[in-house]
Parts: sequence; structure tokens; C-alpha cells
Amino acid sequence: MAMTGVLRPGHVQIRVLDLDEGVRHYRDVMGMEETGRDEQGRVYLKCWDEIDHASVVLRQADRAGLDFIGFKVLNVKTLNQLEADLKEYGVKTERIPAREMLETGERVRFVVASGHTIELYAEKAPHGNGCGGVNPTPWSPQSERGIAPRRLDHALLYGPNIEEVRKLFVDVLGFTLVEHILTPDGKANQVIFLSCSIKSHDIAFGEFPEPGKLHHCSFLMDSWDHVLRAGDIMSMHKVPVDIGPTRHGVTRGCTIYAFDPSGNRFETFKEDRTPYPDHAPLTWTFDGLVGEGGLDYVQRKLHETFLTVVS
Ligand code: FE
Repeated sequence: MAMTGVLRPGHVQIRVLDLDEGVRHYRDVMGMEETGRDEQGRVYLKCWDEIDHASVVLRQADRAGLDFIGFKVLNVKTLNQLEADLKEYGVKTERIPAREMLETGERVRFVVASGHTIELYAEKAPHGNGCGGVNPTPWSPQSERGIAPRRLDHALLYGPNIEEVRKLFVDVLGFTLVEHILTPDGKANQVIFLSCSIKSHDIAFGEFPEPGKLHHCSFLMDSWDHVLRAGDIMSMHKVPVDIGPTRHGVTRGCTIYAFDPSGNRFETFKEDRTPYPDHAPLTWTFDGLVGEGGLDYVQRKLHETFLTVVS
């Protein structure tokens, strides 16, 4: 089997300042399906084409941001092996009991040098995508509701020590570095794009003085048309847009960056690369990020908010 180890980002737990407002955004504007609420008051949602129970968990809190991101791994044996590998590498891990999150098995949790909490898990109950498993339909009514992204795609996280984080993701978790943006002096990485698949990235990290920050969670759209339609829906609902619609030079992704009602940035994104693990990483200079359209290929400019606004 070609795909083993870590499969994909499976869930993010996002802090929102007002739960009802958050639910209205992710359920009614994004068009995600609400799949559950737990005793802690957290709300679980999934994108229409995701099979597992939930990919976004909303928790009300007095500050916005990301509690953790969880990656689904192939099976329990893989989970145990990766936990042992992390420990051997010197990472302190913690087991979160099964069903602490609805319909989710045991999770292995650890904190990386950028201050972000990462989880690995092997089991999450299937919910289905509404298309059926025998003679399935190509789409379901849920795929027509709101912005309707296909799946949670990736997150960009900001914090210190991303070189250490890169080593851990590559050497222990088996990710590949697909693209990287250098710092202005060219001596280190400003942003790294890491993949555990043939997606342009499953997670990215940006160097930033404050630990544990969320730059954006990204949701996969079917096409550039769907990205533009997402923009129409954002405007209809007066969702504050940060950048786009445009294309990132970095990753080639078609994109809109916008903010949820709590100020968490999210992205509606159309993948446009298939990097295999044997491909050499692509390099962007900091000047390239600014003047060669790394961030915004159409306008070839650096939007200041990209480097400064996080939650
Ligand atoms: Fe992104």
C-alpha cells in the first residue's frame, strides 16, 4: 500500500467567542453539517464529502484561536508505533481517552516547539457523505448548501522554532517539505509547507514570535468557480474577506482568505499541485513572496495582514 503512516488532517478544534455565532458561520454560511454536541458544549461539524464523524469542533472561549489539530493515521498499530517514535525522539506524549471527543478513539497528544498542540488518532466513526456506499451518487444535497467545501484541507500555524517543527514532521511523522519561503536574509525558513500525501500541503508553519497561533484553517473547494462562488456567499453574508479571490504563487492554490465571526482566518482553497515525496522542494525567496506573487500571484503584492494577523 502506498499510503501509510499519517493520512491527513482529520480535525481542528477552533475556539469561538460566541458559540451560536460560530455555528451560524460554519453550519449556515460554510454549509457544513452539524453532526453532534457533547457534554462540554462543543459543536461538531463536517464538510459534505468527508466520511468521518467531524472535522471541525467549535469550543466557546474568551479568546479565539486553535486548541489543537488532529491527524488521522492508518490504524492503531501505526498510532502505537508513531507514539513510540515520538517518545524515542524525546517528545512528551499524552493519551486522551477514547470518546473524549464524540465518536473518536484514543488520541496521542503532544506539543511541538512552535507551541501548537498536535494529535494523532486512528479511529473515528464513519458518518458518510450522503452519497451512499453502493451505487453512490456523485454528490448530495449537502454539497449544494452554503459555501460547501469538500473537506478540511490544511492549516497554517504561526509560532517560533519552525526549523525544529520541520525536523519532527519530516523525521518522525514522515512528512515531506513541498515548498518553503525563506526569511528576508535567506538564512532560514519563514514558512514551510509539509505534506503527508500528494497534496501541496497538509500543514504549514510560519515563523512568528508568539507561540501557538492560528493563521488559517483551509477548506477544499471543487474548482476556481467554486472559490469565486464562495466569495459571492461571503459577500451576501458580509463575511470579512482578507485576500482574494486570487491564486497563491506558493502551492499554486486558488484562494480566498476570510475571517469567521471570532476573527479566526479561514481559507476556501482549490488545490492545484500533486507533489510526490520524491520531488525536490520548491523555494521562494522573501522577495519572491512579495514581488513575484508568492502570496498573491495575480496582484504580485504582499498583503501586510499575511505576516501580522493571527488568532
Ligand atoms: Fe492555505
